[in-house]
Amino acid sequence: MSALPILELVGLHKAYGSLEVLRGIDLRVFPGEMVCVIGPSGSGKSSMLRCCNRLESFQSGQIMVGDADISRPDVDINAVRQHIGMVFQQFNLYPHLTALGNVTLALRKVQGKSRAEADRLGMAALERVGLADKAQAHPAQLSGGQQQRVGIARAIVLQPKIILFDEPTSALDPETVGEVLKVMRQLRENGMTMLVVTHEMGFARAAADRVIFMDGGVIVEEGTPADVFGAPKHDRTRAFLARYT
Ligand code: ADP
Ligand code: MG
Repeated sequence: MSALPILELVGLHKAYGSLEVLRGIDLRVFPGEMVCVIGPSGSGKSSMLRCCNRLESFQSGQIMVGDADISRPDVDINAVRQHIGMVFQQFNLYPHLTALGNVTLALRKVQGKSRAEADRLGMAALERVGLADKAQAHPAQLSGGQQQRVGIARAIVLQPKIILFDEPTSALDPETVGEVLKVMRQLRENGMTMLVVTHEMGFARAAADRVIFMDGGVIVEEGTPADVFGAPKHDRTRAFLARYT
């Protein structure tokens, strides 16, 4: 691919105290790609995503979002975060706000949009995830799958350059997993760039443009889903995948 990457990690190292969790990550995500990250618990997947919007600091390496180097100490991190959506395992919705209130919060508080304009954009985002009819519901009145779709609407309403998903379906009842994965596939079809940590191997295999296998703070292997799932090159990848089949 010749286009400039939307997100580029170069030699990323991160430690918590003396515990090294990322040991030289090089990763590029190109416009319109959906890259799925798989790997065992504790391999550093969440830490990597959290570094990308500076929810975590890191010791060395570089993270570029488009042509902006977000590793620089003088970077305006709030501006950067508006370009990088994040969808969490635990949704992280505000319980006292409606679905629409959650989706429009950053538009109003960070971008200073009027309530009318924020509501218009928020409703459009809720429509894209199939929840326009739940705009006035509070999170407690929604299923896990619906809450996560609100989480996705909250990310897309800011028109980010990329959305990072950290195990978006891991906290869901099995019967609501499919509706969230379906919304993610629709985003992908509409050209959204996405970096998705997931344990849904069927989804990664069917929907990803590229799959990354992480273990022990490094990228062990990457390739097309057919490469990684169909013909894994490394023993560690094979051992990991064997647990899911
Ligand atoms: P994954 O998402 O692949 O399960 P994480 O990035 O969450 O991996 O964790 C990588 C390693 O870092 C694990 O050993 C985990 O216990 C450790 N870790 C994660 N967050 C913290 C933290 N805030 N403080 C100390 N250690 C952490
Ligand atoms: Mg994690």
